[in-house]
Amino acid sequence: MDGPGSYVADPTEGVTGVEDLPPPQIVKRSRNYRRGPCPRCGRRAYRLRTAHRTLHDLGDPMSGRPRQLDVTYSQHRCPACGCYFNADLLDLALPNAHYTLRVMHTAVRLVVEDGLPYRAASWHLWRDHRVFVPFATVQNWVEAGGKKGR
Ligand SMILES: [Zn+2]
Repeated sequence: MDGPGSYVADPTEGVTGVEDLPPPQIVKRSRNYRRGPCPRCGRRAYRLRTAHRTLHDLGDPMSGRPRQLDVTYSQHRCPACGCYFNADLLDLALPNAHYTLRVMHTAVRLVVEDGLPYRAASWHLWRDHRVFVPFATVQNWVEAGGKKGR
């Protein structure tokens, strides 16, 4: 009989086809505002249109499924200065990022606090948090953070 500490491999280990991986949960988030303050001059700017952004978040360890945020956000144009800008998503992710801040912070902690090599950190993120981050991406995050800290 297996004891309580017996080793059980991750069920996705050795899976080669994406179609055999658990499908992501889609979670909707909204940063969609009728008006917002212009970042350049501070005037209120009405919404021009809405747009969508997909972000990879930490997954659900109970179901073993990845999680994707489908963020609806507003795009604005300032009537005073003509500046175009998007609703602030900085509580979720950095501009142009494909991953949430939670994922980035977890990845960097794995390397900086736990001393995991980049490839091991990448596997850990998938195995325990169900988010796939290429190891080179983890490396970019850690090196970018290191530069800022120096
Ligand atoms: Zn403006």
